[in-house]
Amino acid sequence: MKNQGRYGQFGGYYVPEVLMPVLEEMEQAFERYRDDEGFCRELAVLLKDYAGRPTPLYRSEAISKRVGAEVLLKREDLMHGGAHKLNNTLGQGLLAKYMGKRKLIAETGAGQHGLATATIGALMGMEVKIFMGVTDIERQMPNVQKMKIMGAEVIPVTGASGTLKDAINEALRYWTSHVDDTFYVFGTAAGPHPYPTVVRHFQRIIGDETRRECLERFGRLPNVVTACVGGGSNAIGMFAAFIDDKDVRLVGVEAAGYGLDSGKHACTLQKGKIGVLHGAKSYLLQDENGQVIESHSVSAGLDYPGVGPEHSLLKDIGRAEYVGATDDEVLDTFLYLSRAEGIFPAFESAHAVAWVISQAGKFNADDIIVINLSGRGDKDVDAFIKYRPEAAQ
Ligand SMILES: *Cc1c(COP(=O)(O)O)cnc(C)c1O
Repeated sequence: MKNQGRYGQFGGYYVPEVLMPVLEEMEQAFERYRDDEGFCRELAVLLKDYAGRPTPLYRSEAISKRVGAEVLLKREDLMHGGAHKLNNTLGQGLLAKYMGKRKLIAETGAGQHGLATATIGALMGMEVKIFMGVTDIERQMPNVQKMKIMGAEVIPVTGASGTLKDAINEALRYWTSHVDDTFYVFGTAAGPHPYPTVVRHFQRIIGDETRRECLERFGRLPNVVTACVGGGSNAIGMFAAFIDDKDVRLVGVEAAGYGLDSGKHACTLQKGKIGVLHGAKSYLLQDENGQVIESHSVSAGLDYPGVGPEHSLLKDIGRAEYVGATDDEVLDTFLYLSRAEGIFPAFESAHAVAWVISQAGKFNADDIIVINLSGRGDKDVDAFIKYRPEAAQ
C-alpha cells in the first residue's frame, strides 16, 4: 500500500497476516470508486433523498449572545437516524456493494454505529451481523431491539469488560475467517489503514457543506470550527475541509469525564501515550505496563480509549487543539440547549457546545464559531433524568 496509511508516525495497519489482502482489496476499491462518476452519483442521491442532506447551518441566537460571537450549529442531528454516522455507513455500504460483497459486519458500543449499519443493511438488502459487548447490550437494550427489527443479527461479545474494545476485537477475529464474502463497516476514523482515510472521506461532506455555506452567507471562512472527539470521525469530517486554511482554528473536545484531576481515565489525546490498538498506532489510554485502560464518560459514544491517527498527528504538529469537557458541563449544556433552543443535543455533541460556552467573552464579536452538532439527544433523555431528576419536575 502506498504510504501504508501513515499520518506522520501514526496509523498503519497492525493486523494479522490474513487481513492484509482484504485491506488491500478495500484500499484499491476505494481508490477506484471514490471519484467514479456512477458511484458518486449514487451516493449523492442517497445522501440527499434518503439521509436528508445538506444539513442546515443554524445560527443560535442564545449561544451567540451568551458567548459574544456568531455561533452556528451544523445540524447533523437532523439527518436520518439522528447523527452523522449514516454519512459513513452509506459510503462504506455502497463500496461493499460495488466490491460485490453481500454480507456486512460491524462493531458497536452504545449502539449508534450498529444502528446506522443495520439501517443501510435494510436499505441495500444485505445481511448484517453486529458485534456488541454483553455489558453494552444490557445498557442499550432499545438500540439492540431497533437493530433486530431492521433485520440485523446482534452477536453478544464477552471479554475483559464486554464493551466496545472487545466488540472490535471480536469483529476483527470473525473477519479473518470470512474475508471472501464479508465487508467490515468500521464506525470511526480509526482502525487499520485504509479505514481512517475512508471514514474521513465519507464524513468530509460535513466540512465541505459548512465551508460552502459560510462563504455564501458571510463571504469568509469561520474563525473556529469545533467538534467532539470519540474515535474522531465527526471531528475529522468537519476539520478536513479547513486543515489547509491556517487561520481557521480547529478545536476537538474530548470527554473529560469526572474531570482531568479526578484520577479517572479520560481524554485520550491529552493524557494518553502512544501505542497500538485495533490495528493502528495512535495516542491511547494505557497504564505503566502498556495495558489499555477503560475510559469513563457520561456519553457512551465518546467512551473509547483510542483515537483516530490523524488527530494524533494534528495534535503533535499543533494544527488542531484538543480540550476537554466534563460530565457536569455536558449535563448543564444538555439542559441549557433544551431550554434556550428547544434542541436536545446528544451528550457527545454537548461536549463541543460546552467548550464554546466556556469560552464566553474570549472571542471577538464578529468571530464565526461553528459547532458540529453531531447528533440528537433523544437517546440520552433517560440518562439525563437519572442525573438531573429536578429538571423534569
Ligand atoms: C458515535 C458518536 C460520536 C463519536 O464518534 P466520532 O467518531 O468521534 O464522531 C459523536 N457524536 C455522536 C452523536 C455519535 O453518535
